[in-house]
Amino acid sequence: MSKIFAVANQKGGVGKTTTCVNLSASLVANKRRVLMVDLDPQGNATMGSGVDKSELQLSSYDVLASLLPIKKAIVPTNSGFDLLPANGDLSAAEVELLEMDGRESRLRQALVDVNDEYDYILIDCPPSLNMLTVNALCAAGGVLVPMQCEYYALEGISALLETIGQIQQAANPALQIEGVLRTMYDPRNSLTSDVSDQLSEYFGDRLYRTCIPRNVRLAEAPSFGQPALEYDRNSKGAIAYLALAGEITRRHAAKPNEANQNSGQR
Ligand code: ADP
Ligand code: MG
Repeated sequence: MSKIFAVANQKGGVGKTTTCVNLSASLVANKRRVLMVDLDPQGNATMGSGVDKSELQLSSYDVLASLLPIKKAIVPTNSGFDLLPANGDLSAAEVELLEMDGRESRLRQALVDVNDEYDYILIDCPPSLNMLTVNALCAAGGVLVPMQCEYYALEGISALLETIGQIQQAANPALQIEGVLRTMYDPRNSLTSDVSDQLSEYFGDRLYRTCIPRNVRLAEAPSFGQPALEYDRNSKGAIAYLALAGEITRRHAAKPNEANQNSGQR
């Protein structure tokens, strides 16, 4: 049974896509079977995995809007994980879903078909709390929240926490915060450490110990369609995401039942 994580934060530019691509590659390096689901019409996770979004035959749009069997749209990547790709077509689904039956649980239903084939399924969410993100949160067992340590960091995610609460009460009681990840981290900045302390107080052991530093290799790698691990495996960014994958797999080895979920829930 897969562990399904929605990588979500309604703020843009906090490192959701970077985390999805690099964590997927790092979990593969840890011998885990991984599916990454691109649920952002921008298709950045698709491009960053070396798949050309302008040449897709089928995509996450077809799975959500037309109930195409998910296996038909999944493609392999050079980095060893599988990808359900996305492109601009998906922006139509945001609207079309509103009229559809089971509009919140379309992704959850689709993933039932592949639940046994992967250890981890990571869903890259768009920068808003729209119906696409709601689909991700209904399908997931855990939410992984990338955050920059800025002023008002906690305030910035209050809407996300509220949405998670609503989904727990209605469609997906098993949903948890899997972890909060500090991204673009600069320990020399005193504000960063203040905010970091606040996050630690608020989230306790849900705050990952691993911090992802600001690292130019992480920003460069997507233009080569590669995770940092392939682009420059000795870079600080690549090493940090490997550490995160280690932290996550150890956490689940210690508590095997946590974040297991949703197989067969329809
Ligand atoms: P989101 O998906 O939340 O919008 P992205 O992952 O696309 O955010 O990141 C936003 C921008 O910041 C991208 O240009 C990305 O390459 C860059 N970036 C992300 N994480 C880092 C990092 N740790 N160090 C340097 N640049 C980063
Ligand atoms: Mg993104």
